[in-house]
Amino acid sequence: MIMPESDTSLPSSLPRPHRVLGLLGLLVAFLLLALLSYRVSEHFGIESMRRDASHQLDILGAAIDSEVTRHASIPSAVELNPDVLALLRAPSEAQDIRQVEANRFLQKLNDHLGGPAIFVLDMTGRVVASSDWIFSDNLLDSDLSYMPFFRDAVRGTPARHYAVDHVRHEPGYYFALPIRDETREWAIIGVAVVKSGIREVERRWLAQEAPALIVDRNDVVLLASPSTWRYATLHQQPPAVLERLGRQQFAGQPLGTISLDIDLDGTNEGKVIHLPRHLRADVPPTLGARPYLAMARHLSGTAWRVVVFSDLRPVGVQAATHAALSVAALGCLLLGILYTRQRRRLARGREEARAMLERANQELECKVEKRTADLSEAVSGLQREVQERQRAEQTLRAAQAELVQAAKLAVLGQMATGITHELSQPLGAIRTLSANAAEFMRRGDAATAGKNLAIVEQLTEQMGNIIGPLKTFARKSPAVSSAVDLAQALDGALFLFESRLKKESVVIERRIAADAGMAWCDRNRLQQVLVNLIGNALDAMQDEPVRRLSFAVDRASSGKLALAVSDSGCGFSEEALAHLFEPFFTTKQPGEGLGLGLTISRDILRDFGGDLMAGPAPGGGARFVVLLPPLPADYRKPTP
Ligand code: ADP
Repeated sequence: MIMPESDTSLPSSLPRPHRVLGLLGLLVAFLLLALLSYRVSEHFGIESMRRDASHQLDILGAAIDSEVTRHASIPSAVELNPDVLALLRAPSEAQDIRQVEANRFLQKLNDHLGGPAIFVLDMTGRVVASSDWIFSDNLLDSDLSYMPFFRDAVRGTPARHYAVDHVRHEPGYYFALPIRDETREWAIIGVAVVKSGIREVERRWLAQEAPALIVDRNDVVLLASPSTWRYATLHQQPPAVLERLGRQQFAGQPLGTISLDIDLDGTNEGKVIHLPRHLRADVPPTLGARPYLAMARHLSGTAWRVVVFSDLRPVGVQAATHAALSVAALGCLLLGILYTRQRRRLARGREEARAMLERANQELECKVEKRTADLSEAVSGLQREVQERQRAEQTLRAAQAELVQAAKLAVLGQMATGITHELSQPLGAIRTLSANAAEFMRRGDAATAGKNLAIVEQLTEQMGNIIGPLKTFARKSPAVSSAVDLAQALDGALFLFESRLKKESVVIERRIAADAGMAWCDRNRLQQVLVNLIGNALDAMQDEPVRRLSFAVDRASSGKLALAVSDSGCGFSEEALAHLFEPFFTTKQPGEGLGLGLTISRDILRDFGGDLMAGPAPGGGARFVVLLPPLPADYRKPTP
């Protein structure tokens, strides 16, 4: 059954160009969705990372601040110490004694505070007192005039700087305060300095998972994770500047061998930058760069900026996952829609098919009803026709019977002369004998009269013998098949022609095969056929000098009995042979023949299941073959 097209057809039912366009559209929709999901997820991922980075900066900033600035107030204490003031006020030759006192004070202060190096510079930048005076690598007499904090402090400005000292080459954070002498109108007579170690900060820094930097106001990296970035500059700087910075702050170490080329503008709010892959020393350098969220913050009270870098790859992976999930969700949604539509289409198709089937059933039922009515009509028409045919057949059979009877009577009529002749002789004799008998009775000669009457009796019996077969032949009886002895039937027929045969000197020849004596037919009708054939043969031989009539009975190959009746008559013309069995065909004179004998004979034989055929006889003349059914296989001879 052909399913009707519907608006819910699958894309495969669309024309090819539409299908291609549809698929392209779908692809574009998927791509757009993936892109959108990626972007949204990336945006939220970066936002979340920004919050984390800000929080991390808070923590780092607080840690650095507490570590670095906890000794910021020490120079004030140094400034007020009388030993230090005495040392700075004393002329250079008297400084040795003063220096010991000042050193002890500084050492005690240092021991009390636990760690930082505290020292005092004179106005030339030379260390005149130091808390580490007891160590051999102490700072005493070191010239720190090159350090930026010294220049600031002698100008009256408290200063703080990150620097590496050139004695121990240790980095540290320096707080410097000018020392004023109230006796000299608060003139600056020296500088009190405390150096905070930043080991704890360093340790904490290197433990950082994510890359992070501390850069100073000159964009020099002071602390870095990875540590290989330390003392690099953010940007390329002129060699003279680098040389000066190295000399002033980093104990003459060369700077600028690495330029990270990171632009920190706008990083306060977080900014996506790309860092090379060889970020860490333990990762082999490879090509390409990776995205990071860089976030910077100024440390209060310093000129430092802390920068943390958050790896954006997890965000990318998450965004890609979200994009894939969105695409998958859209795919599922589309599949769901397609599935639903397909189900609806199938359901509708089934419904339509059911409706069509119902319609077809109804149509079929209507057709069947109509055909049944037609057939009933045809059947009743046929029944009527059959009845009419049966009636016609009955009429025909009645007519045939009448015709057979008429033909018989016609034969009898033709034989009437011969019969009359046959009867006239005994009748005349009877008349004479009876008259003589009466005379002899009158004369009293009863014996002679008795003899005459005995002869009369014989003659009447002879007449009865003549009339008996005629009566039998003329009897109108329905055709009923039974076992018929062909020799007897032939004798009966020949008997009717007895006088004519004698008169016309006809030679009769008969040959009946041993296994062909009995046929299954109606004896009376067969006799009628034979009478007709014998009569025709005698008519045909009338003018012939030799009259021979032969009968031969054989069993044909078909199993039927074949009775051949041959004569030595004139035979048939070709035209006569062609029309022999047509009704009313006769070559005889009017009044001598009706032309019905052969037609009726053949009909009679066919009624039995036999037939009649005509042809020339071997020695001239005519030959008729009567085919008769043999006795049935189950025939049992009736017991007498
Ligand atoms: P009818 O004898 O009344 O003419 P039939 O039907 O018996 O009618 O015969 C038809 C014709 O067939 C005959 O008129 C005759 O011409 C031809 N016919 C029949 N038997 C013979 C025969 N034995 N020899 C020659 N002609 C025959």
